[in-house]
Amino acid sequence: MDFSLGERTEAFRVEVRAFLDEHLTADVIERMHASGTFNDKDFNGALAEAGLLAGAVPGYGDRDPIELYVLFNELEKAGAPYDGLAVTMLVAGVIHAMGTDFHHTEVLERLLTGEFNCCLGYSEPDHGSDVAAITTKAVRDGDEWVIDGQKMWTTMAHEADWVILLTRTNPDVPKHKGLTMFLVPMGLPGIEVQPVPTMASERTNATFYSGVRVGDEWRLGEVDGGWAVMGVALAFERGVMGGTNPAVPLLNHVRNWAAEAPSPDGGTMLDDPLLRERLARTAMANQVSQLLTLRAAWIAATGGLPGLEGSMAKLYATERYQQAVGWFQQMAGAEGLLSFGVDGAAADGWIDYDGRHSPVVTIYGGTTEINRNNVAERHLGLPRAR
Ligand SMILES: Cc1cc2nc3c(=O)[nH]c(=O)nc-3n(C[C@H](O)[C@H](O)[C@H](O)COP(=O)(O)OP(=O)(O)OC[C@H]3O[C@@H](n4cnc5c(N)ncnc54)[C@H](O)[C@@H]3O)c2cc1C
Repeated sequence: MDFSLGERTEAFRVEVRAFLDEHLTADVIERMHASGTFNDKDFNGALAEAGLLAGAVPGYGDRDPIELYVLFNELEKAGAPYDGLAVTMLVAGVIHAMGTDFHHTEVLERLLTGEFNCCLGYSEPDHGSDVAAITTKAVRDGDEWVIDGQKMWTTMAHEADWVILLTRTNPDVPKHKGLTMFLVPMGLPGIEVQPVPTMASERTNATFYSGVRVGDEWRLGEVDGGWAVMGVALAFERGVMGGTNPAVPLLNHVRNWAAEAPSPDGGTMLDDPLLRERLARTAMANQVSQLLTLRAAWIAATGGLPGLEGSMAKLYATERYQQAVGWFQQMAGAEGLLSFGVDGAAADGWIDYDGRHSPVVTIYGGTTEINRNNVAERHLGLPRAR
């Protein structure tokens, strides 16, 4: 495996950075944290106009997954609002891989304008890790399907135009074999969205579906073939499309803070040997996270589905992030617990924010335990956990 990115990819990285210099303003970042909605339609529209969005769809156009990795990697490192975009582009990739002409014209082409969004409707109140056990049902009625049930943690549902919805269409077969995926327009009668705030300041939602009628043309993949659609979606979610370098912005914020903050022993916090060691360890962990992510992207670029490698990257990156923020909270003392906008907050509130955000990233997109099981079973050959 070759870790050098090549001229074309490096040129693409420069292009993305230039875009961020121009469009990622303090206002955009503040709006995202104040609203808890990590999605900005103006910002997405500007990305589309700059020609960067079509390249963000896995397998679409002439960009390869390494460039996809570069785009999301740069957005993440810069602290840009990319969560909504990543989900939207993930759905665009699934449509590209398995959708019909109808899905392409009705949905995919619109997603590429940056003005439309998707959300993921997999998890339910009683079924998250064991997502194949979901109970939201879709029952055929002529050319339509009638959907009833409840989803939990449907992040971005309040902004989304479509939800990619996992439903149960056959309760009489083993659980993985009775699932069907739909793309459901969020404006349909019978859909209700209720906000769920999180300690990380991100907003997510509970969503309710009561007698929602959707035409068969909105089905994505085969009837009872929803698990195959999930496989494609999950492979991209873990690793390639962001989420594996969360400690990069944290490191930048802490370094800037430490260069100014007085140390109790004189000088600044940056003179403190323990803090220096922790900064260095975090920088090394970030580099390892980067390489693990690059490996997942490389596998996708060479025609594979990086299910296992994405798990490894997410597991390592999110655990190191949580460890690093714990270290910096210790070093910052009480000021490390003060939020954005509060006088005296260490690193302008970023240490507090990352302290609240870091547990969440070990849950969504597959929990730490599930990813550990994945690595244990598929890489180490250990017996199945269940
Ligand atoms: C902020 C946030 C945003 C989210 N956004 C979305 C979204 O947009 N769309 C969506 O569909 N979902 C979303 N999720 C849901 C997320 O994917 C689930 O929370 C996650 O998969 C865990 O499921 P659960 O919450 O039901 O916990 P459970 O599955 O009940 O797990 C509880 C605990 O048991 C452990 N556990 C479970 N099974 C095993 C096992 N076999 N072996 C070892 N340990 C196990 C888990 O690791 C966890 O620690 C989001 C979650 C959060 C917190």
